[in-house]
Amino acid sequence: MKISVKKQILNENDLIARKNRKFFDSCGTTAFNIMASPGAGKTSFILAVRTFLPKTKRIGVMEGDVASRIDTDRILSYGIPAVQINTGGNCHLDALMVKKALSQLSIRRLDILFIENVGNLICPANVNLGTHDNIVIASVPEGDDKPYKYPGMFKTADLVVLNKIDLIEVFKFNLEYFTHGIRMVNPNVKLLAASCTGKRGIREVSDWIVNQSL
Ligand code: MG
Ligand code: ZN
Repeated sequence: MKISVKKQILNENDLIARKNRKFFDSCGTTAFNIMASPGAGKTSFILAVRTFLPKTKRIGVMEGDVASRIDTDRILSYGIPAVQINTGGNCHLDALMVKKALSQLSIRRLDILFIENVGNLICPANVNLGTHDNIVIASVPEGDDKPYKYPGMFKTADLVVLNKIDLIEVFKFNLEYFTHGIRMVNPNVKLLAASCTGKRGIREVSDWIVNQSL
């Protein structure tokens, strides 16, 4: 019984996700699901990418967190439209949470919507939000073994960004080992290295995002 109940919930989520996707498509808005562990630099990523995007691209942000509106206030302080989703303990966003937040942003006016998921390398990968692409951010201080330990997350990625690349020596991060782990679970995924605070490698990330845009 337990299994069938779970299946039903997943299907319900997928139905709402499909509606979210149709809505994004009708608005001409490309939506990105940004996933990473806490502290990998998701919010810094959004702020860094934004400075390299063409000025004609209008962006908006949904911030998923268990509690607080720290990241939303940070995004808003740069004049970017943003809405906070507090999951109240839930460790991932779901399609319904996104759907409910849609009315708080003028999606039709946006070219790109970044949805920053709850910091977690496990279940966000299994929950469809209706977004077009998954961006997974790994960061050097987390270690080079993450693709081996959390393959599901890296498997669903359309783009993997290795952030905090300026710390690679300090943490003795083995880039070859990391890359091998990524290729094992997701052979064709785009992999880029960056420093979001040092603004390194962000041009390439921004170009990739523009290429994916509707
Ligand atoms: Mg954040
Ligand atoms: Zn979860």
